[in-house]
Amino acid sequence: MEILEHQLKSKGYKITKHRMAILNVFIGSDEHLLTAAEVYNRVSSKENNINFSTVYRNLEVLTDANIIKRLNLDNGINYYELNQGVHHHHLICLECGNAETTKYCPLADLKALAQHNDFLPIDHKLEIYGYCKNCNNSKG
Ligand SMILES: [Zn+2]
Ligand SMILES: [Zn+2]
Ligand SMILES: [Zn+2]
Repeated sequence: MEILEHQLKSKGYKITKHRMAILNVFIGSDEHLLTAAEVYNRVSSKENNINFSTVYRNLEVLTDANIIKRLNLDNGINYYELNQGVHHHHLICLECGNAETTKYCPLADLKALAQHNDFLPIDHKLEIYGYCKNCNNSKG
């Protein structure tokens, strides 16, 4: 939490009770990706005087401070995840919506881009859609 506090301060933000509560939702969550509504539901079960727009605003602050990452999926919904500083991609199940993380980056060899396009790649995003093991098995 001290590191997070430092990250917030360096962006000119304070660590508040609400921001702590939001971060604890991510830390205590089994799911990797959470929507703003899901975060709100969990926070509001512990903090009774918090409304959705407060949660949403604080998610944006935490995203700006690089503590949380925002991800826009094909369904048009924004998801949030804790920024753990480990590069990964998401395997999203079209059936149950479960999101797994990749164990390696399938685009690791982006150096070729630098040669072919005279472009310096810094970051990239990739989400893979399909069926998780459970859903694939039940499909027979
Ligand atoms: Zn599934
Ligand atoms: Zn992730
Ligand atoms: Zn990658």
